Amino acid sequence: MSWQPASDRYAKMKYNRTGRSGLKLPAVSLGLWHNFGGDTPHDRKVDMCRTAFDLGITHFDLANNYGPPPGSAETAFGEILRTDFAGLRDELIISSKAGYDMWPGPYGEWGSRKYLIASCDQSLKRMGLDYVDIFYSHRFDPDTPLEETCAALDHIVRSGRALYVGISSYNSQRTREAAAILKELGTPCLIHQPSYSMLNRWVEDDGLVDTLEDLGIGSIVFSPLAQGMLTTKYLGGIPTDSRAAQNHFLKRDFIRPSILENIQKLNEIAEKRGQTLAQMAIAWVLRGGRITSALIGASRSSQIVDCVKALDNLEFTAEELKDIDVYARE
Ligand code: NDP
Repeated sequence: MSWQPASDRYAKMKYNRTGRSGLKLPAVSLGLWHNFGGDTPHDRKVDMCRTAFDLGITHFDLANNYGPPPGSAETAFGEILRTDFAGLRDELIISSKAGYDMWPGPYGEWGSRKYLIASCDQSLKRMGLDYVDIFYSHRFDPDTPLEETCAALDHIVRSGRALYVGISSYNSQRTREAAAILKELGTPCLIHQPSYSMLNRWVEDDGLVDTLEDLGIGSIVFSPLAQGMLTTKYLGGIPTDSRAAQNHFLKRDFIRPSILENIQKLNEIAEKRGQTLAQMAIAWVLRGGRITSALIGASRSSQIVDCVKALDNLEFTAEELKDIDVYARE
C-alpha cells in the first residue's frame, strides 16, 4: 500500500523563524550526510524520510558530496522525492551545498563561481529538482575573493536554481563580510550552518551566535549529538553498526574512558530531567531560542523519533546548565 503522510504532522513539530526572514524551519531538521549512501539499503532511507516527515520535519539537508560515493545521497533522496514524497515539494525545504572536494581537477572544490554553479546544477540533476530551497557555500575559501563566491550565490538565486542562500562554518568575521556583500547584491544571507554541541562550543567562543542575531541571520547547527557521542550508545563499548565502528569521521580513539565517564554523568543529568541523553543534547543547543534548528543525523527511524521528543522539554535550570558544564568536556 502506498504511504500517506500523517495528517497531524504539523501539530507535532515546533517551527522557528529563520533569522529575520519569512521562512520558518522545524526545530529539528534531518541531515543526510551519513546513512544515505550506497552502503545503506534504500528501504531504510525511505523509512527515515517518512518517519521524519510524519513528525513534522520539513527540512532535509544535503550536500554534493554526501554518500558514499559522493552524490549518492542526493540521488537516493531524488528517488524518494519522485516516489514517497511525490506531490509534497511545496511542503519541503531542501538544501544542498558545495565547497568540499567533489570532482578531480581545479574546479571541483572550494568557492569559485565555476565550481559553485556547476555543482549546484549537478545537485539539481541528481535530485531531479528545478530548484533547491537553500544553497550553501559549504566552507570559506581563503584563495577566492569572497565577492566572487557571494556573486555566484546571488546568481544561483537570480537564475532560479535556489530560493535562498547560506554559508557554513564561516567564522564571525567572514560571516559579517559575506553578509554585507550579499546584502549589497540584493540576496540576503538566510542562514548559517555551523557545528555546535555541548562538546563543541566554538560558535560561542567566536561570538558567531551573537553575530547572527545582530545580522538577522538564522542558524542551523550540525552534529548536535557530536556524531552520536552525546548518546548512550558508546557506554557499553563500540557497537558494530555505529559510526565510530567505521572509524572514519568519528574515530574510535575519541571514545576514551575519560569521555565515557563524563557521558555517563551527563546521562544521569538527562535521566533526572526525564530525557534521554540525545534529547537533552538537542534541547541544550535549542535552549533560550537563539538557534533556529538542530540538524541531526540518524541511522534508523527510531533515533529520529527519540530526538524529536527533545522538544517536550527545552527549559534548563541554572543548576542543570552548571552541572552540564562540569561534564561536557572532550
Ligand atoms: P549528529 O550529531 O546528530 O549525529 C548523528 C548520529 O548520532 C547518528 O548517525 C547516530 O549514530 C546517532 N544518533 C542519532 N540519534 C540518536 C539517538 N536518538 N540515540 C542514539 N544515537 C543516535 O549529527 P551528524 O554528525 O550526523 O550531522 C547531522 C547533519 O549535519 C548531517 O547529516 C549534515 O546534513 C550536517 N552536517 C553538515 C556539515 C557541514 O560542514 N555543514 C558537517 C557535518 C554534518 P549511528 O550512525 O552510530 O547510529
